[in-house]
Amino acid sequence: MTSMLKPLFVYNTLADGSLRILNPVVGEEVWTVPGRNQRPHVNDPRKAPEPLAAGLDLDAICHFCPKNSEHTPAEKSRVVRTAGGFKVLEKQTAEQALAHPALFRRVPNLFEIVPMDFWKRNYGFRLSPLQRQWKEAYLSTPKGRAHILGVIDEKLEHQGKTPDEILATAEAVKLELADAFFGGSHDLIVSGSHFQANPGTWADLLSSGSLGREEHFIFLSFTLNAVGEIHRENPYVKHVAVYQNWLAQAGASFDHLHKQVLGVDTWGAGIQRRMEILRRFPPFYNQVLLAAVKARGLVLAENAVAVAVVEPGHIYPCLAVYSKSAASDPAGLSPDELRGFSDLLRALHAAAGPRVPCNEEWYFRPRGSEPAMPFHVLVKWRVNIPAGFEGGSEIHINPLFPEQVRDRLLPGLRELLAQGEMPGASVGENCSCEDACLRYDKAPPRR
Ligand SMILES: [Zn+2]
Repeated sequence: MTSMLKPLFVYNTLADGSLRILNPVVGEEVWTVPGRNQRPHVNDPRKAPEPLAAGLDLDAICHFCPKNSEHTPAEKSRVVRTAGGFKVLEKQTAEQALAHPALFRRVPNLFEIVPMDFWKRNYGFRLSPLQRQWKEAYLSTPKGRAHILGVIDEKLEHQGKTPDEILATAEAVKLELADAFFGGSHDLIVSGSHFQANPGTWADLLSSGSLGREEHFIFLSFTLNAVGEIHRENPYVKHVAVYQNWLAQAGASFDHLHKQVLGVDTWGAGIQRRMEILRRFPPFYNQVLLAAVKARGLVLAENAVAVAVVEPGHIYPCLAVYSKSAASDPAGLSPDELRGFSDLLRALHAAAGPRVPCNEEWYFRPRGSEPAMPFHVLVKWRVNIPAGFEGGSEIHINPLFPEQVRDRLLPGLRELLAQGEMPGASVGENCSCEDACLRYDKAPPRR
């Protein structure tokens, strides 16, 4: 391995204080300019939130709310509380599904990015025996059949069909369209409630940072279950994208906590670029990325199994949590590794607060591929809107210096640590973040 192959993380501070960064995983230049960060941000958190009206039904705010389940397709599974903890209920009928309040539900995305028709026409996909069996069982009850036909009608209406056209569509055609609900590869992992307990204002939404530690861990585990099932049931899926859009400015249709899992037949350019970097220089994440972050004092928190940092050089202010696990696939993390990872990710959301619109993006090695990649999640604050300059020049203006992001988060992280919300963790300058602490490149090669 020669030094020629080592990708450069360019981090230039100029005489006037402006910053120019090239983070090789982004591949485009990102600038931060003094003074630009004083421009008002979208969803300015300084604005006072509206109080909730008395008598408002807090379980029927949006289509993801528990009392509006007729607007989302047949639920694939749900996590419920039990006397001893939690359990997952799979593939129930419409009648069974509503019997126990959900902590999280997995429902098909009504507006899939990669739809059932794509898989059928391009790959010859057909429902698996398990999916077909569940579809038949779901449609066999009056409530289930009415639910599915109702959601199909709603979908047709969204597609621009008139009421007469919808009425004239044969039931057999509608039931065929419903294959998307039972065998689709784009699901939502939706929280059981819209608001935190006892909300006072519209800002008291249930967010990743307001979930309890155990609940957040279950949120991640339940999401990973869905990734596993999409891989098992759709052999044409090459990678499952996992992401979370929080608030409208980050692309969410509803201010109701949910993640998305989306099976795709390609990796996409972002994963492709990272895999190429790792092929050229396997220790990239330890020796280039974390080394650059550590040298600039941008480590936020660390525990035995993960490290959280401000990651410079992205289009938006960006935080990251890296798993130290040797597993490149989050499904291979031990429960303790996932729990510790979850603690840091939740803490980043909690320290930023629920009013910052953000995207959570999960990165991991696509199944069946080389080389190794550390499982990590980026959290991008959607406080700026790329505009014309960015489009033409492919130079991006990130409104916040990485140190400003760090300084905004550290007090909150220290408070969480003091409250026992990050057991075994260190914060800020107390993090050792030792060289080569990510063990992804120490795993034995795949066979
Ligand atoms: Zn809701």
